[in-house]
This record gives sequence, structure tokens and C-alpha cells, in this order.
Amino acid sequence: MRRKLAAGNWKMNGNAADLSELQALSHMHAAPAVDILICPPATLIHRAKEKVLGGNIQIGGQDCHAANSGAHTGDISAQMLADAGASAVILGHSERREDHGEQNEDVRAKSIAAMNGGLKAIICVGESLEQREAANTLDIIGGQMSGSIPDQATGENLIVAYEPIWAIGTGKVPTLDEIGQVHDFIRARLERRFGEGVGRSVRLLYGGSVKPSNAAEIFAVSNVDGALVGGASLKADDFSGIIQALE
Ligand code: PGA
Repeated sequence: MRRKLAAGNWKMNGNAADLSELQALSHMHAAPAVDILICPPATLIHRAKEKVLGGNIQIGGQDCHAANSGAHTGDISAQMLADAGASAVILGHSERREDHGEQNEDVRAKSIAAMNGGLKAIICVGESLEQREAANTLDIIGGQMSGSIPDQATGENLIVAYEPIWAIGTGKVPTLDEIGQVHDFIRARLERRFGEGVGRSVRLLYGGSVKPSNAAEIFAVSNVDGALVGGASLKADDFSGIIQALE
């Protein structure tokens, strides 16, 4: 049985004062029936971890370097994230693929570092609108999966997030059939590559304009084990509504 996961990606949003939202969320969900993860900007990871001490919210990063340490100005390693209190890291988000030119092999190298550092790697895949309209969605996602997911993946250290690029921050969401088709495809691919045991234990998140108002219907789709949420994770009330839809 896969435990459901509500993951929040704060992106480049949030200062120390915004941790009050995290604290409120922690109080609202003291005994959650699902896993809850918040990925604030790196500057807040340590303080975020302190805010949720004694609670049940996990803290994660939004990226890491493939190396453990060294001459990489501005970068942060998986070990450093873990040291600051993170238990997971988002990797290969489309905004990083776009803003920083990250390729599948970069995402794979970072994922290996994350897994070796004891972090869960939340590997993001997803098609552009152009790719969807050209009926290339499954090809693109298959390629991203084989290129980005390392061989050492297990149900413990890997989470896959399906995030259609055109649905991120736009208010547009694929139909439930479209979400189901992609999630079933991802599940089948994982089973084929890693065997049924591992393939069935990896959690699959949907991401892209998830809100309290559409969460329940998305969570009812087969092979959707939770969500990766951007905008609606910034406010405790919104994210709480999504968590409740998952519980
Ligand atoms: P959104 O972002 O929920 O604001 O659409 C999702 C994401 O990019 O993870």
C-alpha cells in the first residue's frame, strides 16, 4: 500500500515571516493520515525544520548539486540539504530544466547524489503544450524517465511527479483521463524496468494547478498517490484543503 503524499513546492517564495504559515499547517495537521512535505527555498530549510519539530511535516529542498562538496559557487549538495533537516529533494523540475538548462543526465546525477545522501528524490517529468498537441506526451515522458531515473531507485528513495509544463501556474489542468493515462504509463514503465515489487511501490504525484477545489477528483484517478503543489502550498488554509482531500 503506497502512503499518500502532499508535497508543497514554495519555489522562490518565502521569507522567515512566512514560516508562520508552516507552523499553522503543522498545528492543523498534528496527526495526518498522509505524508506532508514542504520544500521551501534553501535559505529557510533549517528554520522550517525547527518550526515543525515535534510535528509530522517533512522538509525538503528544491534542487541539489550532483557532487557532495567542492568548488561550485552558489550550489548546495544533497548532504548539505540533509544536514539542514531535509528528507527529500525535488529534482528536474521544468523550471530548472528551462532556467538552468538541466538535461535528463544532470537530473540523474543529482538523483544519485540525493539517494546516496539519504534523501528521497522527487523526479519531475512532463510535456510542453507543443509536445502534447503533437501527440508526443508519452514518448517525452518515457524518455525523461529512462534518462533521469537512476538504476538504484526503490519505492523508498524515488517519487515521480508528473507535471505537464502547460499546467504549472496556469490554472489549466489536463482532463482526468489524460492524467490517468500518463500515470498508468509511468507505473507500467517503472514495473517494466524495476520489477513489479519496486514499480508498484514508487509514489506518483500529479502537479500543475492543483487547488483545494480540484484536488479530490484528481486524487481519485488511478495511480495518483498525491500532489506536488506550487501556488496553493504557500498558504496553510489552501494546502490544508488539499491535504484533507487526500486523507
Ligand atoms: P502550481 O505549480 O501548483 O503553482 O501549478 C506546481 C509545480 O510547479 O510544482
